[in-house]
Amino acid sequence: MKKLLSYLLLSAMVFCLAGCNEAEAPSSNGDTSHITASQPHESAGENTNVSISYTESGFESAPIKATGDFFAMDTVMSLQVYAKDEATAKEAIDAGAAEIIRLDRKLSTNRPKSDIYRINEKGEGTLDEDGRYLMTRSLDFYKKTNGAFDIAIYPIVKAWGFTTSEFQIPSNATLEKLLPISRTSELSYDADKGVVKFNKSDMGIDFGGIAKGYASARLMDIFREHGIESALCSLGGNVQLLNGKPNGDAFKVAIQNPFAPNEDYAGVLTAIDEAVITSGSYQRYFEKDGQRYHHIIDPTTGKPADNGIVSSTVVCKDGTLADAYATALFVMGVDDATAFWRSHADEFDMILITDDDTIHISEGIADRFEPMDQRFSNINVLSRNG
Ligand code: AMP
Ligand code: MG
Repeated sequence: MKKLLSYLLLSAMVFCLAGCNEAEAPSSNGDTSHITASQPHESAGENTNVSISYTESGFESAPIKATGDFFAMDTVMSLQVYAKDEATAKEAIDAGAAEIIRLDRKLSTNRPKSDIYRINEKGEGTLDEDGRYLMTRSLDFYKKTNGAFDIAIYPIVKAWGFTTSEFQIPSNATLEKLLPISRTSELSYDADKGVVKFNKSDMGIDFGGIAKGYASARLMDIFREHGIESALCSLGGNVQLLNGKPNGDAFKVAIQNPFAPNEDYAGVLTAIDEAVITSGSYQRYFEKDGQRYHHIIDPTTGKPADNGIVSSTVVCKDGTLADAYATALFVMGVDDATAFWRSHADEFDMILITDDDTIHISEGIADRFEPMDQRFSNINVLSRNG
């Protein structure tokens, strides 16, 4: 509980400072001779409490600004709505939180009652409406990203201990055994019936690289259904915005500094009605013998992607796509990610931060991004035509 409170204080502070991106849990970077981890593994309790606070927004059309914070999907969730009164704001936030908790229970790879847990145990199963949507989109993203985004990576994610926080470094022999079963091409899916079947034993799927983006997209629908015209959510740092502020002004979304995620921002993006979703090696990792091992796996090696990217942010209207692509760009590395962006520039914009302190930003959003840390004086604006 104390841990949760400190997360909430931290995120509240960041909200005041720069809009809506929140800080992650404090990382532990001490003695590296044994394993240290970035984030304690906690799952949402069955009775997740949503604490809502209300303030006056100063906008006539929506005088109440309400913020609801809670813990789900292993991270801190923060929902913020502008509403005509407290009752409307509370209904919208409660409905949004209920939706996230519903999706968490259904999509978690850890909860024995979840749909995904059941399918992974049996090697087959039928997906419901949310699962079918995510499966169809994941298959499409797998193809489009040439396998960089791959939900069938689950056996390898598990072997590294990221599902349980019992971290370990799998041997090369283990990875060689797991690589052939950790790919979407070994999975059969009957889209009409929603039936998934694994072609090999010990396969598994994990929507962890896409679930928060889908959840944030669902939240925007729910807020709209409740008559809200201005809102945002930050799901563990993944932000989606419903319109702008009640007066039409843009929101300011802080992009975390991947080198000091709890203290500092790399920059601030001005945005309206879109998702701003980040994958980062600082978000979930452990350290052993001075080496950091993070949770975004390169499906070609079975190891944490290691190509110089330390954070990848995707900006576009579609939260689900933004989440999948943020993960995929991280795996691709700057050159392939840039080529991928050039051939999909109508779909999204991106900000990549690399370990040489450079910010690579696509030209579509460069004029609304303001760097906030002198460390990043090197800004590489990517043009569509190279
Ligand atoms: P994200 O934070 O959205 O980049 O998602 C990372 C999570 O997605 C990890 O914790 C894994 O559960 C899963 N994952 C790891 N590597 C991949 C990958 N290459 N493709 C799809 N999902 C992945
Ligand atoms: Mg993702």
